[in-house]
Amino acid sequence: MPDRLVAIGGNAGAMGAASQAKRMQPDLDVVAFERGRRTSYAACGVPFFVGGEVASLDALVARTPAEHERRGIDVRVGHEVVGVDLDRGVVSVRAVDGGGASEEGFDKLVMGTGARPLRPPLPGVDLPFVHGVQTLDDAEELLAEAERSGSEDVVVVGGGYIGLEMAEAFTRWGARVTVVESSPQVLRALDADMAELVSRAMDGFDIVVRTNVEVTGIEPAKVTTTAGELPADLVVLGIGVTPNSELARDAGIELGARNAIVVDEQQRTSADGVWAAGDCCDSFHRVLGERVHIPLGTVTNRQARVAGIDIAGGDATFAGVIGTAVTRVCRTEIGRTGLTEAEAERAGFTCRSAVIESTTRASYYPDAEPITVKLVAETTSGHVLGGQIVGGAGSAKRIDTIATAVWNEMTAEEMVNLDLAYAPPFSPVWDPVQTAARRLL
Ligand SMILES: Cc1cc2nc3c(=O)[nH]c(=O)nc-3n(C[C@H](O)[C@H](O)[C@H](O)COP(=O)(O)OP(=O)(O)OC[C@H]3O[C@@H](n4cnc5c(N)ncnc54)[C@H](O)[C@@H]3O)c2cc1C
Repeated sequence: MPDRLVAIGGNAGAMGAASQAKRMQPDLDVVAFERGRRTSYAACGVPFFVGGEVASLDALVARTPAEHERRGIDVRVGHEVVGVDLDRGVVSVRAVDGGGASEEGFDKLVMGTGARPLRPPLPGVDLPFVHGVQTLDDAEELLAEAERSGSEDVVVVGGGYIGLEMAEAFTRWGARVTVVESSPQVLRALDADMAELVSRAMDGFDIVVRTNVEVTGIEPAKVTTTAGELPADLVVLGIGVTPNSELARDAGIELGARNAIVVDEQQRTSADGVWAAGDCCDSFHRVLGERVHIPLGTVTNRQARVAGIDIAGGDATFAGVIGTAVTRVCRTEIGRTGLTEAEAERAGFTCRSAVIESTTRASYYPDAEPITVKLVAETTSGHVLGGQIVGGAGSAKRIDTIATAVWNEMTAEEMVNLDLAYAPPFSPVWDPVQTAARRLL
């Protein structure tokens, strides 16, 4: 009898691992349970769908259940796993439409249950016009509510990247959009000086940003805050996510940072024969030297590949994360990697930083846009600890050069010596990331 792999979750974490394992071990019997209606979709595209830049939700689906079936994976959409019994090697499954419960046996199990938007314990948070977004099904519900209410006044609770992307999306509807953020800045993954540039860009789009303000409750047609009331016919939650790790916890599997499932370098959990990948599990931060929960598609896909290879008996290692991420808010591109200056100081590093302003192309070339780069390096070793970029079109992906430097513990001097490409349509002769490294020196 071939081994039986059960995958919990139908998106990148579970299906990525299951597909990788099936490719390497074609006789593996694979069954996947997804409580929603879709598989292998790009939630990352949701803000751009809501904003009208992407025509349909179906365009965000990379592989349908039928396509997985053709590749030999038995996919059961509309089925939720409600229990895991490790001693008996069975999962309990409930049909979401009320069609009854059943048990399914497994030899190996991969958990890719993802995460869900945090719901602050506020009065009114469960009202029907309050929405978080994680899956395409969530996006459909949010859109239906937005269309029903007309969405003239939208309040986004939380200034993380998803909240800001959604805020911009609703400006395209002609909505009056307010972002309420309890801390002194939006995008806490940036230093305050860099986040300020993003707030300015949002000003230009008439998005009202209320920092140092807390939401105290939600009532029909309004949000109450520590700074007064805001009209609202739609509320979007953007204060972050929490891992869906309860199934693992109840099965006795170890949880760690922010209740994420603890995994090793092969994505194995604390239970024999059980792997996890994606937003439900933790990862090792190479600069901080500790385990963290960084819920990103980039991390998920790399983890899923490693889990799948290990499940199939191959050899792969997940080498960790450094917190590299990009986003675009109000035509402003944002990138970050490694540690911000504030994070580095909190972690006990003695560090220096440099901020430079340059242009995305040669300054005389048409459509050159401003770009600001901040680099942070450790004073003693000179190692680049992190970088942040805010600027016009062509800015954000330059963060990958800094990410490569951080990953390889390069110094600012070594960054200056890198043989990077130049021609006027692409950059000044010194790429802005190298100009920042020179300033740091
Ligand atoms: C709006 C938005 C924008 C984003 N933008 C970016 C971006 O630009 N770049 C980036 O890198 N990342 C981005 N992300 C993050 C990225 O989408 C996630 O990291 C990725 O989807 C995680 O995949 P996953 O499979 O681990 O979890 P999920 O995508 O959460 O999928 C988990 C799946 O498991 C199912 N499930 C959960 N529990 C059960 C159960 N018990 N039984 C059956 N099924 C279950 C859920 O229904 C869900 O379909 C964004 C996320 C959102 C929401």
